[in-house]
Amino acid sequence: MDNNFTLDLADEAATLAFGSTLGKAIIPNLTIYLHGDLGAGKTTLVRGLLQGLGFSGKVKSPTYTLVEPYENLTTENGLLNLYHFDLYRFNDEEEWESAGFRDYFNAESVCLIEWPEKAEHILPMPDIDIYFKIKPTGRDVHIDGHSLNAHACVKNIKELYS
Ligand code: ADP
Ligand code: MG
Repeated sequence: MDNNFTLDLADEAATLAFGSTLGKAIIPNLTIYLHGDLGAGKTTLVRGLLQGLGFSGKVKSPTYTLVEPYENLTTENGLLNLYHFDLYRFNDEEEWESAGFRDYFNAESVCLIEWPEKAEHILPMPDIDIYFKIKPTGRDVHIDGHSLNAHACVKNIKELYS
């Protein structure tokens, strides 16, 4: 199953555009890990994705809140709830249960997670890994899908870029 995709993102606008494309390709029931150093473009991608889905509010980085919810978003593939996690400061596994974060992972949601490495023992496995690499100018982004659901989404992305 050909489930990979690599793109060169020349500038911030390209990262936003890639996010918007991902928004058109997105389907519910996905856990997406976002990998890459600080400043690599993970939050920018989520911002582009939300803007592409017509969300006009401010997209805050959830560094302090751990998660920002965006519910009842209309997509080409139906309504979904999007949860944007940033686990950079995550250090309390009990909080994961007490805050009910586990419930955010369900058949109607898409969870995008920055710094999944900080909670690797409690997070659900990813359907899709997205890797950002900082280059002297711009970024490389590589998408790696693992599940059937991911395959459908990555196929949609490829069609949108072809
Ligand atoms: P992260 O969430 O990975 O820490 P952010 O998205 O918050 O990173 O910040 C990325 C920074 O890099 C922002 O200043 C953004 O404008 C910039 N940026 C995003 N994409 C690109 C790109 N493709 N090329 C150059 N700069 C980018
Ligand atoms: Mg970020």
